[in-house]
Amino acid sequence: MNFLHTLTGSFAQPAAENPTVAMIEAAYRHHGLEWRYVNCEVAPEHLAAAVRGARAMGWAGFNCSLPHKLTVIEHLDGLAPSAQIIGAVNTVVMRDGLWIGENTDGQGFVEALLGVCTIEGQRVMLFGAGGAARAVAVELALAGAAHITVVNRSRPRGQELAELVNTRTGATAEYAHWHPAMPIPPGTGIVINATAIGLNPKVDDQLDLDWTTLRPGTVVADAIPNPPRTHLIRTAEIQGCTVLDGLGMLVNQGAIAIRLWTGVDADRGVMRLELARVLGL
Ligand code: NDP
Repeated sequence: MNFLHTLTGSFAQPAAENPTVAMIEAAYRHHGLEWRYVNCEVAPEHLAAAVRGARAMGWAGFNCSLPHKLTVIEHLDGLAPSAQIIGAVNTVVMRDGLWIGENTDGQGFVEALLGVCTIEGQRVMLFGAGGAARAVAVELALAGAAHITVVNRSRPRGQELAELVNTRTGATAEYAHWHPAMPIPPGTGIVINATAIGLNPKVDDQLDLDWTTLRPGTVVADAIPNPPRTHLIRTAEIQGCTVLDGLGMLVNQGAIAIRLWTGVDADRGVMRLELARVLGL
């Protein structure tokens, strides 16, 4: 008998609506792991104490969500290469007594994307320049994407992301300001929504695109996990595009975190089913 389970969890504020705990614990149960995942509400002024507390209690690692993805870095001992480029951490792993920051958001996205297309040499149109978009852009570039057009509502953030890709990866990038009825340029292989548009409860919000320029065969991916069938996904499907919803990214980033913590390659199907169940999808 072992009554001492290995602890992992999440530090965020707010924390109550984050379904990650259900998905991760379903994987732990499925794989017979004596591990637990504790969803913790941590205010910014308590983050340092929470990280020290996790070390004191022997946690194997933790996730960080808003608003801690940037500020947690000062409490860590090192960063994985892609987290360093992205400049944000969503997963922390205890390795040889050191807290190492990783970013599994973009890796989870790339893993899902590779299930439907190749990335090498592709031209990508990426909507958004926030935390998710940064992670997605960097991992796409590291996975061999040729060119990324970053489209964003506010110019400085979009320009900064294009600059990051140009200076820190082998891909090229440009910023295109988001104007009404934005067209998708010919030759674009992958279109991605990494903005908050379409997220529950504003489920009817739409990207301001010229929908006639969405060509059949284009891969269209949405980072929005809830609801998974966003306006973008539904419209792209009607136009004959290959679609990828945000649930896959959410499941994969969790599965990659589990692998980093436990060494076990978690069953994505089990995790996706549990997520869909708790979200009522
Ligand atoms: P941020 O707040 O860092 O960035 C939000 C982005 O959305 C910015 O580019 C912002 O533009 C843009 N945006 C928001 N509202 C609008 C609007 N009305 N019109 C145009 N642009 C808008 O958030 P994150 O990057 O962390 O998250 C973005 C989305 O990605 C979230 O909805 C989240 O659910 C999803 N996500 C999904 C994950 C998954 O695993 N599936 C993982 C992480 C995030 P601006 O810069 O102009 O403000």
